[in-house]
Amino acid sequence: DSAAATPPSIDGNFLVAKSLSRLGVTHMFGVVGIPVTSLASRAMALGIRFIAFHNEQSAGYAASAYGYLTGRPGILLTVSGPGCVHGLAGLSNAWANTWPMVMISGSCDQRDAGRGDFQELDQVEAVKSFSKLSEKAKDVREIPNCVARVLDRAVAGRPGGCYLDVPSDVLRQKISESEAENLVAEIENSRKHEPIRASLRSEIESAVSLLRKAERPLIVFGKGAAYSRAEDELKKLVELTGIPFLPTPMGKGLLPDTHELSATAARSLAIGKCDVALVVGARLNWLLHFGESPKWSKEVKFILVDISEEEIELRKPHLGIAGDAKTVIGLLNREIKDDPFCLGKSNPWVESISKKAKENGEKMESQLAKDVVPFNFLTPMRIIRDAILAVQGPSPVVVSEGANTMDVGRSVLVQKEPRTRLDAGTWGTMGVGLGYCIAAAVACPDRLVVAVEGDSGFGFSAMEVETLVRYNLPVVVIVFNNGGVYGGDRRSPEEISGPHKEDPAPTSFVPNAGYHKLIEAFGGKGYIVETPDDLKSALAESFAARNPAVVNVIVDPFAGAESGRLQHKN
Ligand code: ADP
Repeated sequence: DSAAATPPSIDGNFLVAKSLSRLGVTHMFGVVGIPVTSLASRAMALGIRFIAFHNEQSAGYAASAYGYLTGRPGILLTVSGPGCVHGLAGLSNAWANTWPMVMISGSCDQRDAGRGDFQELDQVEAVKSFSKLSEKAKDVREIPNCVARVLDRAVAGRPGGCYLDVPSDVLRQKISESEAENLVAEIENSRKHEPIRASLRSEIESAVSLLRKAERPLIVFGKGAAYSRAEDELKKLVELTGIPFLPTPMGKGLLPDTHELSATAARSLAIGKCDVALVVGARLNWLLHFGESPKWSKEVKFILVDISEEEIELRKPHLGIAGDAKTVIGLLNREIKDDPFCLGKSNPWVESISKKAKENGEKMESQLAKDVVPFNFLTPMRIIRDAILAVQGPSPVVVSEGANTMDVGRSVLVQKEPRTRLDAGTWGTMGVGLGYCIAAAVACPDRLVVAVEGDSGFGFSAMEVETLVRYNLPVVVIVFNNGGVYGGDRRSPEEISGPHKEDPAPTSFVPNAGYHKLIEAFGGKGYIVETPDDLKSALAESFAARNPAVVNVIVDPFAGAESGRLQHKN
């Protein structure tokens, strides 16, 4: 046949790239090396943007966030053994956050496996606890099918990470161009998408009836709703019913924080007193106090909307609706429209929430209004908030990590648009910052990216500032430099003893470290600031320039609390 007539010219590396490209992949993140370097070059030649990192960990975090922001799996490419192990950081983060991503790793030659080959590891096994699917292409002809399976599974049902292992002998194996083309065309035509379970009419009716009868209803939404792009439906639901809402940290922005029904500034009251809570795309995990008293009322009835039936089984809510958030909220709206109800501003519950939110908001504003120098956390955060709000056009994506910096940022920074906040997430993962920045810059090319990071969080991936400069990404990284993890040396005199008492505290870094100089080493722009005026001008200049920059904000080493707001977990 014609396949046999052409000489073999397509190797495994090329075929992986070709399959990815034909299945719609437009971006990849990773670190090249033996045996996958040509895979990356081939992908680029086929029009895929390959963002090359210094460390697979950051590249993996980038792939996971890209999956969240775009709804398409973020692709991470790594070398074998240690590359795969570093990449596990990203894969596990995708699993924890339920974000779609695919890690593709080269692996050692199949003939030499088990004999101590170069960078040998049983990668298919190693990744299993963090992947929905872990596959190995054992022959070049299996590649297109494997690629399709991992891409599809990553987004099917509850999103998550998948893994594809490509041994070096398979990457070198060759087939003819026409055979390659046939294999790829076959998977293009035969892709199956798992149908989403249709919500039952009766569930929708029960949910609406519960909300209708509730005295103190609350709508809670999280990053699953953001992933589902449910913003229009949620806006409509809140407008129709007048029910106050509470976003989780990354749910912030689905409806603007400035909305009059936002219960964010009255969070304790809202969750402590609500009698029916419609929870959409958010797990009742530690972030939501497991849905239990004393934070929640013992009597609260949960209506849980989640793509994952497992999640609903786990939480045993009063009512569970398995389905896509956008679709389910759309159905709720339709049902409500037939017989509308709306709480109205003078409803006692709505009034009590808005009163509390107003009081707390004013308290916070009066703290924020002070210019404290040397900087505490609040003063620079206010200046950053105002600078972000002043940006014209689409809102910047805010990336946030660090204990105090993230905590303070969460309450001070204002989110007005969906999916514009990326933070340490479900796992409280520190070190995500630069990877998330790079993902946001490539996934949302019309937006400025602003990272607000603690110095410790920044340090995990600081070398990736070179990546920012190399790709000239519009990312401004603001480092809250208080000289260490939580702050500087906070030990009491009795804790400072023993033969190593001259060593610095485990929490402390070099005081007043010149983080801004890191980016200057690569030709980026660095600022060091210690006063409100200097910070304002650094932000004005760097936000307008939309070029890579690091703003090193010197903060009082005693300003932060140990463990931020999570002392009870310490
Ligand atoms: P948050 O951290 O914002 O509270 P979580 O990560 O805990 O959010 O929860 C997100 C939930 O959203 C997960 O349980 C996941 O199964 C669910 N989810 C993911 N995609 C969808 C979707 N399209 N529709 C509804 N729920 C979704």
